Amino acid sequence: MIPWIIDSHIHMNDQEYDLIIEYISNFMSQNHMKACCVSTDYSSSIKTMSLSKKSRLFLPFVGIHPNQIEDNIELFMEFAEHNIDQIEGIGEIGLDKTYNPSNSEFKKQIAYFMIQLELAEKFKKPVSIHSRNAINIICSIIPSYSISNVSLHWFDGSQKQLKLAMDLGFFVSYGPLLVYAKDKQSLLLHTDINKILLETDGPVRFSRCFKHRPTQISFMPSILFAASKLLNVSYPDLTAILEKNSNNFLCI
Ligand SMILES: [Zn+2]
Repeated sequence: MIPWIIDSHIHMNDQEYDLIIEYISNFMSQNHMKACCVSTDYSSSIKTMSLSKKSRLFLPFVGIHPNQIEDNIELFMEFAEHNIDQIEGIGEIGLDKTYNPSNSEFKKQIAYFMIQLELAEKFKKPVSIHSRNAINIICSIIPSYSISNVSLHWFDGSQKQLKLAMDLGFFVSYGPLLVYAKDKQSLLLHTDINKILLETDGPVRFSRCFKHRPTQISFMPSILFAASKLLNVSYPDLTAILEKNSNNFLCI
């Protein structure tokens, strides 16, 4: 059995992909790839759900991102509960003070985050979390919910915070930076191999060898190759390990 390559976090609903979505879905099918397609607000959640009807390789995640706290959470929750059987996970949700530095706005972010954690808990869904400069507070909030599958996407914490995430049983996800950023490479080496996920976070643009082009799911093999070299695990073996990790994350 050829293992699946699974992108644990990509914004497939971004308009960057609109004109090439058929091509992407064919590419994924030919290359045995699946993607956790995250959303950032109510309307992108609707778009993600409609994408998932076009291809079973698009695994739909719905959610309100911390920079979208003007979005209508009631409307979103109604939509999510109505479609819950087709929803694979909740995300991208989380906290990030850089978007809302004032205390009152940050409190609203926390409120949105907690409402969506309740949703994940109620329907036993995995969550894909944005945790920039907020890992400690996120790690203090989540244990009050009975949520077994958490992924800290684009993990950018310290070694100490990585240990905290591992102690809580979280998955951590690394992206294209793994190819050239020494700090991410060092974090990878300290991560429990059974808790590693990989992602593109497309269409976010990356520098160096990626030349600021919109990131595509076709970058996944490069990220996987970089990880296999760093971990000294063969590409096929690591692909199989990561498939197992992704299935554990997705409760498959
Ligand atoms: Zn993202």
